[in-house]
Amino acid sequence: MADTVTDPVCGMTIRPEDAVAHEEHDGRTFYFCSHACHEAFLKDPHRYGHPED
Ligand SMILES: [Zn+2]
Repeated sequence: MADTVTDPVCGMTIRPEDAVAHEEHDGRTFYFCSHACHEAFLKDPHRYGHPED
C-alpha cells in the first residue's frame, strides 16, 4: 500500500502525489485534496495544523 496522508481540513485520506497542494506547518508537511482545503488551512493553520497522531 502506498503511503497515504490525511488532508487536515476535510479529513480525506489521499496520496501525496495526488494532492493539489501542500504546506509546511510546525515542521510537518500537510497535503490537500483541493485548493479550497489548502486555502482554508492557510486562513487558520493552527486550527488544522495539529491533527491527532
Ligand atoms: Zn480536502
